[in-house]
Amino acid sequence: MNRLKWDDYFMAQAHLLALRSTCQRLSVGATIIKDNRIIAGGYNGSVAGEVHCIDDGCLMENGHCIRTIHAEMNALLQCSKQGVSTDGATIYVTHFPCLNCTKSIIQSGIKTIYYAMDYHNHSYAIQLLNQSGVKYEKVPFDAERIGQLFLNES
Ligand SMILES: [Zn+2]
Ligand SMILES: [Zn+2]
Repeated sequence: MNRLKWDDYFMAQAHLLALRSTCQRLSVGATIIKDNRIIAGGYNGSVAGEVHCIDDGCLMENGHCIRTIHAEMNALLQCSKQGVSTDGATIYVTHFPCLNCTKSIIQSGIKTIYYAMDYHNHSYAIQLLNQSGVKYEKVPFDAERIGQLFLNES
């Protein structure tokens, strides 16, 4: 029997959310977990009510799309909006978080980051993670292997 591992389940959830991204610069998804339960999720997208980059093009400034809220921030803000504590939680993300998201993740009390892909891993972000004792580990996502589990079920 090929039972799905928790790591694969949460990482798959982050990758599903990435498919909801509305900014074509990068499809990122993030899932926040506490006690093996998903407490929030996010993807790269605009502020609620704003146009989507996929419809209107990105709003570029200094090489960055300024319209987009990053997936990790969207997941954290969902917790703040709903009044859910992120202290001691774990986050699964499709890509290594940018510097700003790393700072927010540390400050939110999240203790573990699992990321599937390296992405401009910022040296200061890594320094902050090491200083704060937040664990970060690469957990590659094998979509083909996970997909095979569905095929085996049917
Ligand atoms: Zn954009
Ligand atoms: Zn970010």
